[in-house]
Amino acid sequence: MQICKTLEELKSQIQFYKANRRSIGFVPTMGALHDGHLSLCKAAKNENDVLIVSIFVNPIQFTQENDLIHYPRTEENDIRLLSSIDCDLLFMPTVEVMYPIKQDIIVGFGILEQQLEGKYRPGHFNGVGIVVSKLFHLVQPDKAYFGQKDLQQFLIIRKLVEQLNFPVQLVCCPIARDLDGLALSSRNARIKEEHRAEASLIYQSLLYAAELIKGNSLTEIKKAVMKYFAPTTSLQLEYFEIVDSRTLLPVSELSLPNELAICVACTLGQVRLIDNMLIKI
Ligand code: AMP
Repeated sequence: MQICKTLEELKSQIQFYKANRRSIGFVPTMGALHDGHLSLCKAAKNENDVLIVSIFVNPIQFTQENDLIHYPRTEENDIRLLSSIDCDLLFMPTVEVMYPIKQDIIVGFGILEQQLEGKYRPGHFNGVGIVVSKLFHLVQPDKAYFGQKDLQQFLIIRKLVEQLNFPVQLVCCPIARDLDGLALSSRNARIKEEHRAEASLIYQSLLYAAELIKGNSLTEIKKAVMKYFAPTTSLQLEYFEIVDSRTLLPVSELSLPNELAICVACTLGQVRLIDNMLIKI
């Protein structure tokens, strides 16, 4: 596996791949890799000649300094994991390489970024839009792989690609989960031992709501879910929303679309966790 830390190294390798007509599958990450990331990498490896992974903890998408400072970094282990799955190239730039001058371009995503995560993390999707645009220009992938785990992020990137004509095909991969259903996340490493059991409630609440969707009103479902979380002491619910899975707009009883997403965000101790489930009715 080749490791590139500078733009020059990356550029010359991309030129080589392009000259040799190798198709590029790209998985952008922030590192602290887990099986969720690896499932994206495996899909990319299977469907392309070359697998490129980036690891970059993107400061401009963090809305809380503390979250950025404590974001897990496990460089050595990440390199080992990526080598073990035959990743061809790892792009691991520093902040100075990605942002040599102050980054002040703003990208907006209209009403899509005002929902869910956007409400709680203002400016987050601007940071995502900027870094993904830069990475797409640098890596020039044929296909790029993202996780359904960050559903709103996927929809934001799809909008970016469609409206700015990036010549890349996007692939949305299923959510990889722990044995008890907790969606894998780099942030899970920060969950305290004594809180870990409660974390499984997040996925269970999605299953519960999905079951209630047949035969109950949205208000009843939300009430039932709130009750479900009530006895927990460490888990603080931030939002629990049933939305149209294409727009992420809240749905009403009267205009239920046939594709819904149940989306949840909460904090467990100091750790913010999100999850979702897609439902066809
Ligand atoms: P991150 O390193 O958290 O920025 O994630 C990099 C990519 O991996 C994003 O496209 C995420 O949606 C995806 N991802 C993160 N967790 C999971 C998971 N549990 N299952 C599938 N994909 C995931």
